[in-house]
Amino acid sequence: MNIHEYQAKELLVAQGIPVPMGEVATTPEEAEAIARRLGGAVVIKAQVHAGGRGKAGGVKLARTPEEAKEKAGAILGMQIKGLTVHKVLIAPAEDIASEAYVGIILDRASKAPVWMVSAAGGVDIEEVAVTDPEKITKLAVDPRFGFLPHQAYLLATKLYSDVKQQRAAAQILLKLYRAFVEAGASLAEINPLITTPAGDVKAIDAKFNIDDNELFRKPEIEALRDESSDPEAEVMARDAGLTFIKLDGNVGCVVNGAGLAMATMDLVKYYGGEPANFLDIGGSSNPEKVVNALRIITGDPAVKVILFNIFGGITRTDDVANGIVTAMKQIDISVPIVIRLTGTNEEIAVKILADAGFTALTDMDEAVEKAVQMAKGAGAS
Ligand code: GDP
Ligand code: MN
Repeated sequence: MNIHEYQAKELLVAQGIPVPMGEVATTPEEAEAIARRLGGAVVIKAQVHAGGRGKAGGVKLARTPEEAKEKAGAILGMQIKGLTVHKVLIAPAEDIASEAYVGIILDRASKAPVWMVSAAGGVDIEEVAVTDPEKITKLAVDPRFGFLPHQAYLLATKLYSDVKQQRAAAQILLKLYRAFVEAGASLAEINPLITTPAGDVKAIDAKFNIDDNELFRKPEIEALRDESSDPEAEVMARDAGLTFIKLDGNVGCVVNGAGLAMATMDLVKYYGGEPANFLDIGGSSNPEKVVNALRIITGDPAVKVILFNIFGGITRTDDVANGIVTAMKQIDISVPIVIRLTGTNEEIAVKILADAGFTALTDMDEAVEKAVQMAKGAGAS
């Protein structure tokens, strides 16, 4: 789950990290009123679940409340990486002497939280990682012991030469680690962590990704979810109880079981195609799930073919076949459909589908290859 910058900053403030806090506005008039309350120059920041807002024109400075109104008006409603801006954060503008990057991610390779810090902050850290990897210091945290103060000081010395700033940064890192753990985050970063001309160290941007599997035990974090900022397909899938992940390809996949869904995507790639999504409809034969799945997949204009891959174990494939037939009656589909179905009651299932005018295959390779060919044919025409 993604949360907004202003929500991430609230998590930092709760740990005592110095953050120039502002308020959120949804209209230019609100932005003006907030700027007036804050007094002085402000920064107006698009609240969308995407980075690189600065470059996209979603971060602007304003010296007066009138200017704040005008700039908020320009940012509200704008599109950043395909997401519409519904909210802006109005925060006191800071004078910046330096910008650093500090972030912690859950790293699968190390099987541990790993810190990345760099004195070269403000810009895309991914870019620094490519062009100047030596400017990034990494440190894995042993979860048995947690993140220790001496480690925080070591990292802080990579950011600043001034001892006071090193101490301040070490405290911030320790607090950020606590926020990371308490939120159940898979990523927590401050970029930039600034120094001011007066020498203070502050966080002026924050980003958290929350591990969805943590949400059931963290209702206070779940409450931060902003559905209006999530891609529509993801919201629909979540509401329908489907595990759906949008990908960039054109072969829409409807599969029962996460393992089979992964294998299906592998096979699509093997035959030279690109899956449009990961989707596990579960063991259910519920037609409604199939309808919802089809609605979500056909909502993506990139999809050129829909591939069903159903394996019946405990699930009876005749139930699924009935689900598919019912679903097809309810929803209009303009792309070709390839159905592969095997397992319990397969003969009955194939007959049900044949009676409804669908050809059902039982061989997975054959079905996937056919779907990939159809997607390619559609692409060429
Ligand atoms: P991002 O582009 O989405 O990462 O948004 P940021 O909040 O990191 O802002 C991008 C850049 O805008 C920062 O790296 C700063 O250089 C600049 N910026 C953001 N807030 C302020 C501010 O209060 N004062 C000044 N002078 N610059 C700011
Ligand atoms: Mn940033």
